[in-house]
Amino acid sequence: MNNKTFYLETFGCQMNVVDSERIIDLLAGIGYQQTDEPEQAGLVLLHTCAVRDKAVRKAYGHLGRFKPLKERNPELIIGMGGCIAQQEGKQLLEEFPYLDLVFGTHNVHRLPEMVQQVAEKHVRCEETDFLDRETRLQLFPSRTGQEAFTRFVTIMQGCDNFCSYCVVPYVRGREISRPSAEILAEIRELAEQGVREVTLIGQNVNSYGTKEEEISFPALLEQVNGIDGIDRIRFTTSHPKDLSDELIDCFGRLDKLCKHLHLPVQCGSDNILKTMNRGYSRERYLNIVSRLHQVCPDIRLSSDVIVGFPGETEEDFAETMSLLEKVRYTEIYSFIYSPRSGTTAADMTDEFTAEAKQKRFNRMLDTQQEISRQIWEADVGTVQEVLVEGESKKGAGQLFGRSTWNRIVNFSGPEELAGTWVSVKITKAFRNSLLGELVEPSM
Ligand code: SF4
Repeated sequence: MNNKTFYLETFGCQMNVVDSERIIDLLAGIGYQQTDEPEQAGLVLLHTCAVRDKAVRKAYGHLGRFKPLKERNPELIIGMGGCIAQQEGKQLLEEFPYLDLVFGTHNVHRLPEMVQQVAEKHVRCEETDFLDRETRLQLFPSRTGQEAFTRFVTIMQGCDNFCSYCVVPYVRGREISRPSAEILAEIRELAEQGVREVTLIGQNVNSYGTKEEEISFPALLEQVNGIDGIDRIRFTTSHPKDLSDELIDCFGRLDKLCKHLHLPVQCGSDNILKTMNRGYSRERYLNIVSRLHQVCPDIRLSSDVIVGFPGETEEDFAETMSLLEKVRYTEIYSFIYSPRSGTTAADMTDEFTAEAKQKRFNRMLDTQQEISRQIWEADVGTVQEVLVEGESKKGAGQLFGRSTWNRIVNFSGPEELAGTWVSVKITKAFRNSLLGELVEPSM
């Protein structure tokens, strides 16, 4: 039987999401069609994340679920890619006899050939070598054939920062920036296809072009801002140490740049920021925040925070809590620290009990949830511009879009509004979204 359907599960960040879009295109090129049912598939792929222990455990759990499928159907091909695959390599084939192929973060383009090899020659294969700079430049993920009004555009990959807790530099390789001419050509083409909003992505977009003879990130933003048809621009992820004054000024002068910035702080204490090797102090971070508010008074920020980093005292934690109160993020993605093998922090003494970490984590969540609630409830009664992305997950004839602050707004309206701008009056705030009423099509 030659079952040319595939099931793909993606974990982790937008970089994996973009790579998964590429996988879908590459597999379509060899005749594979996607299915939502692993039981129906001839090929199942897990695209994994290694950033946190929880994500790793989840990926292994899902891999285990596929074992009975293989027992029922020995022809089934099972593959794993992404950051766990990069980190563990061949070892995975030894540990999981039912796994057929392992592809690393630099080897997505090799997937069609690997799949064909497994299918035709019944061999198991692994490719996790990092590519040289020139080859990587040729292989930046580009747009896919999928229809959407908002798109991610990869502008750089990899990271040179080596924050002491993070595996990314080890599993994604060093920083490399894509030529600006290529990025701009891609965005122009997306605009012609009807895309209205682009999010420029990379592990640290603020350092775009610093290793190449390229324009700076603010200059790139300015050029994207000039592309007809593109109405909104976002970018992520943004390292505070590389957020220049010139970049801050973009929020005041580029009309298409959304008034939202994800600016991971990780911790509010100088001691911990130092051992995390973050390259900025609490004061420098807060100065950036106040400069951002000077140039764009209604900008809103979100952040990442790690709780229970080795050596975190009650005073350090209090500094993080006071920073949350000061900055008033719309939301934070917070995690209890878990050591990642191969990182410097993995060797640090961690005397903190899991219970104590959980208590701090819960206190922080309570504080942040109250801040978020206040921010979103204050939006009730306001009218917000929303790019309609399509049918809402809520169903019942509802559509959804996002506000400039990256908040999902659900409202009732006809399907034909997809891809247009509308004004929505906010009537209710929920934890993860807003509900509103259509005022009128606005653009
Ligand atoms: S900046 Fe730090 S946290 Fe972000 S990817 Fe690089 S090493 Fe990891």
